[in-house]
Amino acid sequence: MKKHLLFLGPPGAGKGTQAALISKANNYLHLSTGELLRKEIDLDTELGKKVKDIMNNGELVSDQLVLDIVKKNLEENNKGWILDGYPRNLSQVNSLNEELMLINQQLEIVFYLDIPDEVLINRLLMRGRKDDNEETIKRRLQIYKENTQPLIEYYKKLSLLEYINADGDLKTISADIKQKMA
Ligand code: ADP
Repeated sequence: MKKHLLFLGPPGAGKGTQAALISKANNYLHLSTGELLRKEIDLDTELGKKVKDIMNNGELVSDQLVLDIVKKNLEENNKGWILDGYPRNLSQVNSLNEELMLINQQLEIVFYLDIPDEVLINRLLMRGRKDDNEETIKRRLQIYKENTQPLIEYYKKLSLLEYINADGDLKTISADIKQKMA
């Protein structure tokens, strides 16, 4: 059973939903950088104030900032972990590799949740989070394509990538993931 997982895919692909299910079933840490940042905004912390406008515009917050959050959370954990929404560009991949080396852990599997653009735009509009308006969604998709999509090829070359068709019902998708991580 794989213990160190990563979910890759565009906004709205269902990474958070699937990661939460696995995390609950196996008692793994669910490390969602987006969730952690939103919590800071809700609590109106210094960090939250810094990232609020950036996130509401659909831009990426700084690599250093997310790295600090990831480090803090990974070091406290030992059972297993699921990275959701991190890394999002190649520089974040490099930082993650360094951090994993330091704590002597290895990424074991990368799930790539694939889904057509039309489907995810509709899903996000229905979800209606603060950054789920048409303009911001377009921007997030563009940023995903420019910065995050290259990671698919990167992890494929490392033979870590598992393709998941994320355009279906929740149960079929979880069953597929479960089978592949066994
Ligand atoms: P989604 O992937 O559905 O857009 P997330 O919750 O993963 O939702 O991310 C929401 C926002 O949080 C992003 O648009 C970005 O502003 C910020 N964010 C999350 N993770 C990162 C990251 N690894 N690097 C930079 N910014 C991030």
